[in-house]
Amino acid sequence: MTSPISPVRVRYAPSPTGIPHIGNIRTALFCWVLAQQTNGQFIVRIEDTDRSRYDADAEKAIFESLEWLGLTFDEGPRKGGPHAPYVQSERQQTYVDTALQLVKSGHAYFDDTTPEQLHALRERQRAAKQPPRYDGRGRHRSPEEIEESRKEGLPITIRLRVPDHGSVSFVDAVRGKITFELKELDDFVILKSDQMPTYHLAHVLDDRAMGVTHVIRGDEWISSTPRHLLIHQALGIEPPAYVHVPLILGKDKTKLSKRHGATSALEYRDQGFLVDAVFNFICLLGWSPGDDTEVMTREEIIRRFSIDRINDSPAIFDVEKLEWMNGVYIRNMDEDSLMTELLPFMEREEAEGGLPDSVARPIDRIYLKRLLPLVHERLKLLTEGTETLDCFFADNVKPEAEDLPGRNMDIPMTEQALESALKLCKSVSPFEPEHLEAEYRALAENIEMKPGQLFSPIRVAITGKAFAPPLFDTMSAIGQDRCVERLQNALMIIGSIETPRPD
Ligand code: GLU
Repeated sequence: MTSPISPVRVRYAPSPTGIPHIGNIRTALFCWVLAQQTNGQFIVRIEDTDRSRYDADAEKAIFESLEWLGLTFDEGPRKGGPHAPYVQSERQQTYVDTALQLVKSGHAYFDDTTPEQLHALRERQRAAKQPPRYDGRGRHRSPEEIEESRKEGLPITIRLRVPDHGSVSFVDAVRGKITFELKELDDFVILKSDQMPTYHLAHVLDDRAMGVTHVIRGDEWISSTPRHLLIHQALGIEPPAYVHVPLILGKDKTKLSKRHGATSALEYRDQGFLVDAVFNFICLLGWSPGDDTEVMTREEIIRRFSIDRINDSPAIFDVEKLEWMNGVYIRNMDEDSLMTELLPFMEREEAEGGLPDSVARPIDRIYLKRLLPLVHERLKLLTEGTETLDCFFADNVKPEAEDLPGRNMDIPMTEQALESALKLCKSVSPFEPEHLEAEYRALAENIEMKPGQLFSPIRVAITGKAFAPPLFDTMSAIGQDRCVERLQNALMIIGSIETPRPD
């Protein structure tokens, strides 16, 4: 099937039972892209009929994820629209009415089987090595028996009567034609004893009422689709197009879970990923534009997206690729935008990953702007701004004694390097990168050390780290006085190490 040209009406219909994970958000993203491409509508609907699992934080995270990713919707809760309400618990009456109508038309029936009886039935089936399934006993209950149970306060459900023979088929936009034998299906609940619908009934009715043209959802729903088709048949309505998107696996080919790292879009936001990189990356989970292009703007994705390029095999979530992509997006940013993105991370409290609390907030924008060219190319995550730049902002650094000697350097040699470096640091002028480099190279020659050997303890002394931006740019940005102090400090640290005595 090719991408529909006529405007689609698509919906993202999360259940607020947990923080939306990447797979869930991918559905929202595909829907949004398709709606933009076809000039259609993107609808959000909250599927909260399982009241025992309702989680207000999850609902908050759903809207926060949509907002962060820029997935604006045309209709939905908080926004309204011609088919409001867009929250299922507020649409209960429709589901009850329809379930009763299906009982009346003979497509469904009341069932008073208790949970204990269902449990016993499953146990018997398990013991007999049969698949667990409801045995249709409610089909034979008379209205009087049901009434009796109701009076006794027993739970009453409504089940759809599944024909004993035949099959149902549908053409999935991703997988092609799929057929199910009805003898494999049992009569399933459409209205629960708390008068709330099951997902099967509720989404069919809402998709219909809201004019949804394409149901885009995870392929774990494929096995339930025959039930949804039967509800359509019983109501005499046409089903929408089904687009089942593939599962997302970790790199080890197991289902994506916490073990693989962050599983929600918001966690990636908090870890310092850029929204455009995350958007781009999620789009490629199960879809590709048909060539090797990976880095694409939103506009390009909207232009190139098509349902027929959604893959039917599982997508692999490779966080290293996301990091790479984030680095590409960071490198492509201008310095002002990068600064805007970095500041909130750097200005957080130290305990939350920000610069040391001793550094005054707001941090010096002009100074930060001068530093950015030194680190821009190397950043992969926004959170790395703090760790690569803290030595520029902090009053001092605390190098570890064992990090000070460079390769093949013993302690006396390290002391000698630091002493000469300090002496030069006090007098060198101007304190500019090029001049510093020339002077320090000359110093290395004078004291008969390789430049790399001399520079290594200086780098650790000045920045506290073995890997840092170019040394002389760094020294110049940190300034002569602080460099002098840091070299003195490093000499004290190295001096506190006992030199082993030769036997
Ligand atoms: N409420 C269902 C879920 O969150 C929606 C599935 C669908 O998109 O129809 O899994």
